[in-house]
Amino acid sequence: MTQNLLDFDAQQMTAWFAEQGEKPFRAKQVLRWIHKAGEPDFDAMSDLAASLRTKLKQTACVTSPSVMREELSDDGTRKWLLDVGTGNAVETVFIPEETRGTLCVSSQAGCALDCSFCSTGKQGFNRNLSVAEIIGQVWWANREIGKDADGNWPISNVVMMGMGEPLLNFDNTVSALRLMLDDHAYGLSRRRVTVSTSGIVPAMDRLRDECPVALAVSLHAPNDTLRNELVPVNQKYPLRELLAACQRYLERAPRDFVTFEYVMIDGVNDSAKDARELIALVRDVPCKFNLIPFNPFPQSPYKRSSAEAVRRFRDTLMQADIVTTTRKTRGDDIAAACGQLAGQVQDKTKRTQQRIVEVSR
Ligand code: SAH
Ligand code: SF4
Repeated sequence: MTQNLLDFDAQQMTAWFAEQGEKPFRAKQVLRWIHKAGEPDFDAMSDLAASLRTKLKQTACVTSPSVMREELSDDGTRKWLLDVGTGNAVETVFIPEETRGTLCVSSQAGCALDCSFCSTGKQGFNRNLSVAEIIGQVWWANREIGKDADGNWPISNVVMMGMGEPLLNFDNTVSALRLMLDDHAYGLSRRRVTVSTSGIVPAMDRLRDECPVALAVSLHAPNDTLRNELVPVNQKYPLRELLAACQRYLERAPRDFVTFEYVMIDGVNDSAKDARELIALVRDVPCKFNLIPFNPFPQSPYKRSSAEAVRRFRDTLMQADIVTTTRKTRGDDIAAACGQLAGQVQDKTKRTQQRIVEVSR
């Protein structure tokens, strides 16, 4: 069987090279070629012995998921639809800003958690992505966009906020995170890599112990009654337990706060009373809030909160000394905004309405 080397973090690469009778430093060289140089071709790995290059060509490959479609937003956001086989597709979104480039990465095809406001949840769960399929999104997007004039790759930040619940695909997500952090691969600081979770409490503890990166928690409601409805996994891990897990996480986190994401849904969770209840709820957790105006998708029962309601909600939190930002809606003209990623393979209506670049590889 041909081994896809994108499936290995540094430790796994070293173990595989040892099995082939090769020294650990060879694994590091290859890791650097693949991830730092973005090079998939063993023949181009000029500091490897010719015999090793031949052996790798026979036993290994470097293959990221193939891209079925690329879409460009008017605001510069780019979205790629990636084929992950057996009729499944996932989406990756690149969001350029003046001082950074953020890649929003998917961890699963679909999602089992069925949050009532999320289009990924509505399609159900298909399967976990492999390490190659997760890190392949970073690898591929870097190569596709290309280095800037100073020779830097465009991706400076990664957020695990695409499709799926990263902490329910724990091992593969952690291997991919390790590659993002590894100096022989992407060398991103822990503060620039964020895992967003709907609140899988035991996995939050494991992440803290095994690979602490910046943490975002999808809160969305100020009490269990409403959160049970919006984020059904709350029935398993209710707010008290979730907030305690956030506090434990902060003992080893690269940042001294948790980011709470809060989707703003008209008439559902956006009242002054909700804001006050929220302030009392998070009193003991050092945190920032990121308000995300609800992004509509077909068949969704909800409406986005008005700009005025979002502003008032933010002001109330700020007055309680909670740093609060409102997420700019980026890429919504190509359904690349939070919660709009669906990965449909068949989407003919959108095809005609949008500027679509067909990518054939
Ligand atoms: N499963 C993880 C990460 C992926 S979702 C999680 O739930 O945290 C990334 C963020 O987008 C989450 O905060 C999620 O709640 C939010 N989101 C989902 N659907 C949305 C929608 N329709 N509008 C705005 N935000 C949404
Ligand atoms: Fe899954 Fe996150 Fe969507 Fe909930 S919001 S269904 S956890 S992807």
